[in-house]
Amino acid sequence: MMIAQNTDFKHIARRRALVEELKKKGISDENVLRAIEKVPRHLFFNPILADRAYEDKAFPIDAGQTISQPYTVAFQSQLLQLQAGEKVLEIGTGSGYQCAVLLEMGAKVYTIERQETLFNQTFKRLHQLGYRATMKFGDGYQGWAAYAPFNKIIITAAAPETPPELLKQLDIGGIMVIPVGEKMLRICRVLETEYSTENVGEASFVPMLEGVN
Ligand code: SAH
Repeated sequence: MMIAQNTDFKHIARRRALVEELKKKGISDENVLRAIEKVPRHLFFNPILADRAYEDKAFPIDAGQTISQPYTVAFQSQLLQLQAGEKVLEIGTGSGYQCAVLLEMGAKVYTIERQETLFNQTFKRLHQLGYRATMKFGDGYQGWAAYAPFNKIIITAAAPETPPELLKQLDIGGIMVIPVGEKMLRICRVLETEYSTENVGEASFVPMLEGVN
């Protein structure tokens, strides 16, 4: 999508290097790597930190939140086993970077953020960059019933437990990737009433908070 004439060679080279680093760290989904190579992460940063945007690190954004580490974005995206055209619900829009990666992967993205200042800032940013997601200011614990069920659900803040409303909004055959406490879980909805849960690694995220701010 976007950046038809992205002639910014410095950033292109840095993104290629980042992709190589992610491959070495175990990311193998070509669709994920291609998306990371495309999304201009420096434009999702506070300008003061933008020069560091292609380090494989999390950085602060507004409202005391963070833009996830590229490895984490890639890891969660890979765990979703995304097919083009699938409906994905993201909880924790933050900077919009993860959302942009999912859009580049061909998903239809619905994303919810509870921090109003961040929501407004990111709404403008994604629009200016040509990324078209359906965005809501609200509490992700409630999910987004109007658009459910979702093929995939990704939570980018650490929840104390899996929110029941989100489990309900996951399609049968769907996958949810969620950090619960310090563990990354992949939950598959096998049947109407049956879910299978795998622990797929460690996770370190800002907390998933209730209500809006
Ligand atoms: N995906 C983001 C990561 C942002 S950090 C990115 O790529 O930049 C996690 C975000 O989750 C924060 O912006 C935080 O405000 C938001 N968040 C926390 N609890 C939430 C909730 N209950 N509903 C929606 N968003 C929430």
